[in-house]
Formats: sequence, C-alpha cells, structure tokens
Amino acid sequence: MCTLPLVLNNCVEITSQGLGSTLKIICSACQATNLISTGKKQNRVFDMNKKLAAAMLHTGLGESDINNLLAALNIPTVSHFMLDQRQKETGAAMEIVAKESMKDSVKEEIIFSSPGSRRISVSVDAGWQKRGSGKCYDSLSGHCSMIGNRTGKVLGYSIRSKSCRMCYEAFKANRTPTEHNCKKNWDGSSKG
Ligand SMILES: [Zn+2]
Ligand SMILES: [Zn+2]
Repeated sequence: MCTLPLVLNNCVEITSQGLGSTLKIICSACQATNLISTGKKQNRVFDMNKKLAAAMLHTGLGESDINNLLAALNIPTVSHFMLDQRQKETGAAMEIVAKESMKDSVKEEIIFSSPGSRRISVSVDAGWQKRGSGKCYDSLSGHCSMIGNRTGKVLGYSIRSKSCRMCYEAFKANRTPTEHNCKKNWDGSSKG
C-alpha cells in the first residue's frame, strides 16, 4: 500500500499449498496486511504444483517416491489430495497435446513418404503395463502405439484398461459411481 519494501521478519503466518506457500506480512510502516505468494499462480493454483504433477507423470514417480525425495531435501511433503487433483489436470492437458502432436506427425510422415503416394509405412507394437517375466497374462491395462517409419514419431496410440478405481470403490460400497472420467474400456481377457 505504501510502496515501502516488506520485511520477512514481519511475517505472521505461512500457509502452504503443496510446494507453494502464502506469506502474511504486516507492513511496519503502514500496518497493512500483505499476502505474498512464493510463486506464480493461476486460478489460485500454484504453477509449481502443476509442474510437480507433470514431472511425476514424466518420470513415473509415485506419491511416496516424491515425498521421500522432498523429505530428503528438507522440503515439506505434499498431500495425496493435491497431487491427485494436479495430476488429473496435467494428464488431461497432456492428452490434448498428444492428439495435436499426432495430427502434425501424420502430416509430416506423409510429406516424407514416397512422392505422389498417400501411403505411409508404420511400425506398431503393443505391451502390457504389468511387470513380469512374460508369463503373466492378467495385466489390467495395455497400450499400443504406432510409429511412422520415416519420421520415427508417434502417429497414433490406444489404451485398454480393465479397471477403474472410482468404479471399483463404488462397487465395493454397493452404490452407483459418481460421474467421473472413467478409464475402463475393456471387459474381455487381457490377451484379447
Ligand atoms: Zn506499508
Ligand atoms: Zn470408472
């Protein structure tokens, strides 16, 4: 309010949301209360928390991995709720970007394929999410991707999942599941 610099010593309260914090600092000159965020925010959500969720999806680290890492660095750990929310948002954004990227890659693959032909050649492979020696045939999810031979870029992918946590929780509690972004899209066998 009075444009004088604030002093960290006058911080009376710290509230954290994930990796970010909001400091409540009283101005020693005009006594105004200032709420200072420790990072950029969009719609009351810290960017750094979204980046953490993106990093987790990128590296394949889970909640306990991240909290062990933060604890070792002497940084306060983050909550399950926060990570869950941010991962849902980040995951949805990644899917949109993936779709756009594949559209562009198909165009690129066509440009690099034999001139005058609308045919392209691709490699396709599929796998299961389950770890094992290749003798387990009951994985809950499988994925398949198609890669252009000329560009080496992903032109398409698909995922089949036999389970959904929200549906499973509802089933256990004998109630109908609340509306959710259901990922279950396969009822057959894993081999199928
Ligand atoms: Zn002031
Ligand atoms: Zn579901």
